[in-house]
Amino acid sequence: MSQNDVFLRILFSFMILSSYNLSKSFILSPAIRTHRNLATLSVLRSVEVDGCDEIPATKRRLWFPVKPQDALLNQYNTIVKGAYVRHVLVETEDMADVAIKTYLKGDMDSQDPFGLLASDLSACSLSRDEGGKVGWIMNPFHISAATQTNEEKIRIDHNSNVAVYPLISEYAIEQLFEVRPKGGDVFKIPSSLSSNRPKWHICRIDDLLLDYLPNSGQANLESDSDLFTDEMDKKGTNKVFSKRPKLKGSGTLPKTPNIIIPTSATSIDPKRPIAKTYQIITNGCQMNVADSERLEGVLQKQLNLLPIYSSTPQEDALLVSTPSSTKSTSDSKSPDIIVINTCTIRDHAEQKVYNALGPYAARKRAGKAIAIVVAGCVAQQEGENLLRRVPEVDLVMGPQYVNRLADLLDDVSRGHQVVATDPTLLTEDLSRPIRGHKVRAWVNIIHGCNEHCTYCVVPGTRGVEQSRSMEHVLKECLDLASLGYKEITLLGQNIDAYGRDMTPKRTFADLLHYLNDHIPSGTIERIRYVTSHPRYFSDRVIDAVASLDKVCECFHMPFQSGDDEILRKMRRGYTFDSYMKIIQKIRDRAPDASICGDVIVGFPGETDDAFQRTLDLMNAVRFDNLNTFAYSPRPNTEAALWEKQVPDDVKSERLQIVQRLSTQHALERSERYLGKRVEVLVEDRNPKHIGQVMGRTRQNRQVFFEGDFQTLEGKVVHVDITEARPWSLTGILV
Ligand code: SAM
Ligand code: SF4
Repeated sequence: MSQNDVFLRILFSFMILSSYNLSKSFILSPAIRTHRNLATLSVLRSVEVDGCDEIPATKRRLWFPVKPQDALLNQYNTIVKGAYVRHVLVETEDMADVAIKTYLKGDMDSQDPFGLLASDLSACSLSRDEGGKVGWIMNPFHISAATQTNEEKIRIDHNSNVAVYPLISEYAIEQLFEVRPKGGDVFKIPSSLSSNRPKWHICRIDDLLLDYLPNSGQANLESDSDLFTDEMDKKGTNKVFSKRPKLKGSGTLPKTPNIIIPTSATSIDPKRPIAKTYQIITNGCQMNVADSERLEGVLQKQLNLLPIYSSTPQEDALLVSTPSSTKSTSDSKSPDIIVINTCTIRDHAEQKVYNALGPYAARKRAGKAIAIVVAGCVAQQEGENLLRRVPEVDLVMGPQYVNRLADLLDDVSRGHQVVATDPTLLTEDLSRPIRGHKVRAWVNIIHGCNEHCTYCVVPGTRGVEQSRSMEHVLKECLDLASLGYKEITLLGQNIDAYGRDMTPKRTFADLLHYLNDHIPSGTIERIRYVTSHPRYFSDRVIDAVASLDKVCECFHMPFQSGDDEILRKMRRGYTFDSYMKIIQKIRDRAPDASICGDVIVGFPGETDDAFQRTLDLMNAVRFDNLNTFAYSPRPNTEAALWEKQVPDDVKSERLQIVQRLSTQHALERSERYLGKRVEVLVEDRNPKHIGQVMGRTRQNRQVFFEGDFQTLEGKVVHVDITEARPWSLTGILV
């Protein structure tokens, strides 16, 4: 079939199916946008906070731009050094447009629609059979931290891309980097300006090569100064401290273990003469657990380190190397690297971290070569302060640096202290996580959060939204399927924002359809996701849940408050009524679905009447499960500065009231299963009852029943329900 035949085929199918309005935003005309005008576009809009008059203008948060590249431009240290690119070469711009629309429609029968497009359509014979693979292309403009600010561009050596010139012209490469691509983006670009009819490339960016720490090279480390220059200071908080202070009390210089990155480490080498060990302590939400799994992947698979084992012989299990574990380390063998992955969502989080660091800092002062790493949201929030307060700490790293742990530890093993908290673009994870469970797994689909809930630290600690490409998410799911996993939970702080930062845009419903269609039957049986946001939640997601066989009938939709005035002050973007409309739609389309939520009591200004409306909303919905929180003022959040804070005793009284009511509703919701047969995926043993196993219904209710775990683990079985409790059920295996 000639290229034109294929084009006509695509055009025809497109004319039938098309209802898309092709977004111009991803089209590059030959009059290419420059860094300068992109900078203008990206000027952050300051927000007039509707109804939050108490906040001084200087303290108000700025809206984040939807494109993370725009948020990073001119502010931070991230430098895109290169991109892994695939392309489809077509004759005309019209063909490029139609091909992109076809790709976007997502109904191409392939796990890799871009690869199919390349093999069907591309005029590039050199890459057609390899899914359009071009490979790594280096950014032709070397943009250093300093020149980025001045928007100067210094052309790098022409030869660095010589290998790819047969596939893609030098001119086209320049166009590609001018738009500052991000992983997962697809652009059309002309192949040259010189000919009358230039061909067009459709380029897909599979991954990026980033330079995060322009200040961390050996040259800088040799500097006498332990702080960087003012200019570097302004660029963010990534720093390498080369001159470490002597430790208080001992008067000695701190020792760090020598962590050498093995060149070809793919698994733990038990014969290694001196095996270095690590422990991870994890606090917080699923997102932190998922991050710890990725940290563990880096430590084991990239650095060839060993998790340390329990000192109790009967339990030959990982002590805290199972990422979700928060077991105490006091009786453990001392690790060479301790990673404390922290959460700051509620009270006293920082103090708890300082307390937890105590024993490790003491070991270091006693002369032990131990690397102390503080990761996660407290690390991001406290940054350099952590080093001031606990000088024994070696590495402070925000959640965006999880994939970069190996590089950062490389600096640490040279004896430096590192703070890596600058917002940055994300790359794909090369190491792959070490999962904490064998049946179900977490899969991040979007990092960060662009919302401005006035009580919440997350946007400040996890940065701007960055979606992973649908193909990467699918690849991770297929890897999990091949390892025997049966359930995945897609993670995002605001999952409904998925894809709005992409070029071209995608939606969360698109992703659900794509995964459901391309994960082979009989492998992963269940797809769950958290967390939905009522402001962005779409009917297409309800339809997807109702119609797709793998997507579980379970909605997690935090409402936070039932009072419209409080919701406005929280800046949630919905009301009691609009929230209830969503609930009604869910009940209409998926009547058996479970509905869960989060609520905060005692938000500043919450009166008795306002609190009553929260109870009214709970009574109207009758949640299957509700996470209940007493409002906790958090650093760098607007509501923490407000007057009319609710006294602690009122908060705790209200908390008890919502907990009692939510338990009553949960029991009611459990009782609807009595006498019914439910489908259960077996996950674990019942730790409290030998001979019983634990699984979950599609609606996420725990079910306990007698059974042999060895034979049932990971199986979907049917169970007749005989007992109902608020949060769990008991039954008999059919
Ligand atoms: N992104 C999700 C959302 O929009 O609901 C949840 C993120 S947050 C990690 C989980 C829950 O913690 C929130 O839904 C909220 O109920 C609670 N939370 C967040 N900040 C809080 C604060 N300052 N005080 C009390 N609870 C808080
Ligand atoms: Fe984002 Fe959720 Fe925090 Fe709001 S509550 S800022 S949506 S993470």
